[in-house]
Order: sequence, then C-alpha cells, then structure tokens
Amino acid sequence: MTIGAGDGRQHDNVEHSNECSICGSEYDEDAGGLKGYFGICPVTFCEWCLSSLMDMLEQLRETDMKTEEEIRERLEAIEEDERLGYPPAAVQINAPLALIQTSLGTERDTLKWVLSGGE
Ligand SMILES: [Zn+2]
Repeated sequence: MTIGAGDGRQHDNVEHSNECSICGSEYDEDAGGLKGYFGICPVTFCEWCLSSLMDMLEQLRETDMKTEEEIRERLEAIEEDERLGYPPAAVQINAPLALIQTSLGTERDTLKWVLSGGE
C-alpha cells in the first residue's frame, strides 16, 4: 500500500525505495508492507517493521511519551539480552527462540533508527 502525505503536497517526483527504510528487507506490498511519507521524506516499511512501528505507537499511546533516555535504556536491555547472542535459531528447530530473536532484532533496529532521527 502507498499512502500520500496528509497535507496535500505533491510528491509525484519522489521515488520510493523498494527496500525497507529500517531493516533493508525487500518491500513486498502483498505481504503488507507500506510506502508513505515522514513529512516530505519518502519511507518504505516491510510488514515486520511496520507492525513493530504500530506496536510502538500503541505503547506510546498507552504510556507517556518515552524520553530519549528511556529508549536508550530499552535498547541497552535488548542488546544485553543473551538470546540475541545465540546463534540464529531455525524456525523448524526452535520456533519460540527464532520468533523472540526476530522480534528483539526488529525492535532493536527500530529503536536505533528512531534515535538516529530516521536516517
Ligand atoms: Zn523492515
């Protein structure tokens, strides 16, 4: 899906990348990816990063706005999570660990991306 900027500005001459702006995965519209705009900046999200972003927005709504320090603390906690240090688990062999690793990895990449100012 592609959504335009809500402010009515035209972006016809701006090309969207076919790679996720966060993790670099290939964009797959059928899988539920999204192309849109952060302000005037074209962004592309794969289905995993999009759902992670939605989750984060949910969490932001539920709690007060996280401070940058809180984001860094969460990032540190993820990076200290020993499960991420394990060799990548195969879904067929250890599905729960594989899912946790994917989820933690995506959250880590998303938080880093947020801290970098979305570059
Ligand atoms: Zn992604």
